[in-house]
Amino acid sequence: MFDAEPFTPPQAAPSFIATPNSIISDAKRIIAHIGSIQDGIIRNETVKTATFSSVVLPLAHAEDTRRLESNILCFYRDVSPDAELRKASNEAHQLIIEFDLESSMRQDLFQLYDAIVRKNEDLDPESDRLLKRQHQNFLRNGLGLSREQQRQRFKEIGVRLNQLKQVFRTNQMAKSDGIWFSRTELEGLSKHVLDSLEQENDGKLWLTFEYHHLIPTLRYVKQSETRKQCYIGFENKCKANVAVFNETIVLRDEAARLLGYPNHATFRVEEKMVKTAERANRFLSELRSKLSDYGLRELERLKAVKKKDLGVRGVQTDDRFYLWETEFYKNLLVEQEYQVDQRKIAEYFPLAQVLSGLLDVFELLFGLRFEEFVEEDKKKDIVWHEDVRPFAIWNSEDEGGDFVGYLYMDLFVREGKLEQPFNVNLQPGFSRADGTCHRPSTALICSFPKGQTTRSTLLTHPELITLFHELGHGIHDLVSVTQHSHFHGTNVALDFGEAPSQMLEHWCWNSETLKSLSYHYATSEKIPEDMLQNLLRTRYVHSALFHLRTLQLSTFDLMVHQPSTHEEIKNMNTSIAWNTVRKKIMQIDGPEVLGQGYAWGHGQGNFGHAMDEYDAGMYSYLYAQVIADDLFATGFAPNPMDSQAGRKYRHAVLEKGGSQDEMATVVGFLGREPSMDAFYKNLGVI
Ligand SMILES: [Zn+2]
Repeated sequence: MFDAEPFTPPQAAPSFIATPNSIISDAKRIIAHIGSIQDGIIRNETVKTATFSSVVLPLAHAEDTRRLESNILCFYRDVSPDAELRKASNEAHQLIIEFDLESSMRQDLFQLYDAIVRKNEDLDPESDRLLKRQHQNFLRNGLGLSREQQRQRFKEIGVRLNQLKQVFRTNQMAKSDGIWFSRTELEGLSKHVLDSLEQENDGKLWLTFEYHHLIPTLRYVKQSETRKQCYIGFENKCKANVAVFNETIVLRDEAARLLGYPNHATFRVEEKMVKTAERANRFLSELRSKLSDYGLRELERLKAVKKKDLGVRGVQTDDRFYLWETEFYKNLLVEQEYQVDQRKIAEYFPLAQVLSGLLDVFELLFGLRFEEFVEEDKKKDIVWHEDVRPFAIWNSEDEGGDFVGYLYMDLFVREGKLEQPFNVNLQPGFSRADGTCHRPSTALICSFPKGQTTRSTLLTHPELITLFHELGHGIHDLVSVTQHSHFHGTNVALDFGEAPSQMLEHWCWNSETLKSLSYHYATSEKIPEDMLQNLLRTRYVHSALFHLRTLQLSTFDLMVHQPSTHEEIKNMNTSIAWNTVRKKIMQIDGPEVLGQGYAWGHGQGNFGHAMDEYDAGMYSYLYAQVIADDLFATGFAPNPMDSQAGRKYRHAVLEKGGSQDEMATVVGFLGREPSMDAFYKNLGVI
């Protein structure tokens, strides 16, 4: 980390001073401003006069400027400690989305774009891509439909789908239900988790179905019955969302058919790397055929551990293996056969030390400098909560030494904050109308438990991976250089978007990196060699089951978005479909074998990915993993700390954002199209 006298960035950091009233009025002001620019263009231009410079460019500049404010207005809803602010932010988000939807359906604007496309102007590649992408968006929003009645119906569907998305999210974020358990029933949970639970007078403890309760429960609680109740509780956590989910997939199917696509999946994937639904289906079925047997073999190992465990405890059991047993026995197997205890490992990875080491890795690889704000500066309204750590990022001297952007880390769990880790762009980068460059701001959001004063926050190895992964998105966002914010950073095809972060996870399995990051919270010692080697040996243990789980979600996702007829989707019982697909792919038993049928749980009610952006896109995680493994094997495997490879990767891949076809970006680094070999090789499948 850089510790010389801090430089002053050439661009002020964004401020976080919104009030519930200002959020709404700012959103309205932004919308009115963009609307007036659109109207001005319509007044002044005709299909004869319209050009890229007179129509597309001013709108692109307006879009760039608006994102400087609108991303932040919509950000409060995920992180603000103030419920009123979150509510206002949600409303602002809604207003902006509705406005965007209206804009993307403006017939008058579409006619101008349509005329410009036909004029075939000589544009730079990124501007040409912007024009064609936006023109295509108009078509994808129904403006090519010949009949007014069809356009009207399409619009109604869009509005309704947007409402459903909001309802789904609200239900997901609602306070979770839970169960009262005795301490005996919770045996195995750490003192830290037990102490955090609400307690009743009779000594019972309240365990919710939130992830920070669910995961330790499934992993450590000894009594199978407790885990079972929690698992089933979690799968039914958002039952109210079933109807929302069902209505959504029916409407999506109707909309896709209106546009002339055979189904929603075909409509969604045409803009992704995979391009066709057939290819996405083939990708999944090939993976399944390769991974199925490996999954079964992993299950057999888990069953053996279970048998031994219950034998020692003198508990009677059947020969089955249940959903609520996987996490527990995966953990036990790793503890017993590899002597890996995540809680012991965590003692070597206190968050503060890991972060500083992790930034060192990124500095060296990508030619960056991270400069944390001093306490004094933090008071100047530049954070949304006192826990947030802001950084100014600079290029290293050999990369030019100039300013790169701002990074914020908001790492601790907090009421009202989204629980899953994510990275989000707060302000995009782009070229201003005067040719100067606006640099981005990005935020890394995690929900690690906050350490007590005597004991700092300690990261398990999976949490360490999460940190690398999310910061990977952050770096992608920071080092991207594009003309238009539309293509900035992680605004790439969905089935490529995870690849840069998944690639960085490889560093979490590199013994040198892990050694350099480790620092025992009490003794300051490095991680012992045998503990490290044992951890590294577990890398691909349960990998098939892990990927099969993603495959299960992806298969369900593509299935509900690819019915052969509209009637089929209208009549589908998605709860039965959810559990049937799960059983078929994971080959693990659930309550259905205990006489409860296949409608016992409603996991689709909590399948937020399929409601938001990842619809017909869940396969992207696997698709991007294949690319990530290839990028690492080709560029970094011989020497992960090769800064030359790091720079090449930064400039050939990360810098491009979505400004060119993602396949061209990948080929630009690999020198060829990606292959599945590295992925399969890692798993030991070939
Ligand atoms: Zn990610």
